[in-house]
Amino acid sequence: LIVLENVNKWFGPLHVLQDVDLSVARGEVVVVIGPSGSGKSTLCRAINRLEPIDSGTIVFDGRVLPAEGRGLAKLRSEVGMVFQSFNLFAHKSILQNVMLGPVKVLKQKPAEVRDRAMALLERVGIANQAEKYPAQLSGGQQQRVAIARALAMQPKALLFDEPTSALDPEMVGEVLEVMTSLAREGMTMVVVTHEMGFAKHAADRVVFMADGQLVEQATPEEFFANPQSDRAKDFLSKIL
Ligand code: ATP
Ligand code: MG
Repeated sequence: LIVLENVNKWFGPLHVLQDVDLSVARGEVVVVIGPSGSGKSTLCRAINRLEPIDSGTIVFDGRVLPAEGRGLAKLRSEVGMVFQSFNLFAHKSILQNVMLGPVKVLKQKPAEVRDRAMALLERVGIANQAEKYPAQLSGGQQQRVAIARALAMQPKALLFDEPTSALDPEMVGEVLEVMTSLAREGMTMVVVTHEMGFAKHAADRVVFMADGQLVEQATPEEFFANPQSDRAKDFLSKIL
C-alpha cells in the first residue's frame, strides 16, 4: 500500500532521511522505533507529504505521490495522521471535531456523517462526551477523539507519531487499547512509538531507525530477541 524507494531528505546540511526504502503492505502494522532525532517524525511526515522530500519516490496505493495539487488533498484524506499533540479544534465540540473532515473535505451529508461519527466515538469509548469541548476531556480521551476523527475520513492507512508520549502514564493504556483493536481489525498502520509492549503485541514488523537510516527490520519476536546491529542492541539496552 505504501512504498518508499530511495527517499532522501536534508534539513540544510543534516541528512535526515538517507536512502530510505520501506514498504508497508495492506493490513500491515509497522512500528518504527529509534533514538531521538533519528528521523522518525520526518519519515511519517514525508509519507503524508507534510514534509517535502529531496529525492526518491513514495507510492501510495499504486500512485506516485505528487508534491502538490489536487492529488495531494486526496492523499491526505486517505492517510490519516495522529500526532503526539492531539490538535483538536478547541472551539468545536467533540462531535463537531469528528464530523468536520467528512463534511468539509469529503462533502458528505452532515446527517450521515453524524451517525458515523457517533458510532466512532462509541467505538473509542467516549460517545457520552460528544457534546463537550476538548479542554473538558482528559489527554487520553482527547487522543481517542483524535483517532476517531482520523477514522471518520475512512482512511486507507493511519500514521501515528508518538500518540501516547504526551499522556499521563495512567492514560497510555486506553489509547494503546484502541490502537491495538484497530491493528487487529486489519487497519494499515505506521506507528512511531516508545511503547515496546505495543510493538511486541501489535506489530507485524519493527523498523529500527538511527541517524536517518533504516538500520533493521524484523518481526518483533526476532528484533527483540536477537537485534542484529550494534546500534539496535545499544538502543534496546537503554530502554528495556
Ligand atoms: P524524536 O524521537 O525526538 O521525536 P525523531 O526521530 O522524530 O525524534 P525528527 O523529528 O524526524 O526525529 O528529526 C530528525 C532530525 O531533523 C533532528 O536532528 C531534528 O533536529 C531535525 N529536524 C526536524 N525538523 C526540522 C526542521 N523543520 N528544520 C531543521 N531540522 C529539523
Ligand atoms: Mg519525533
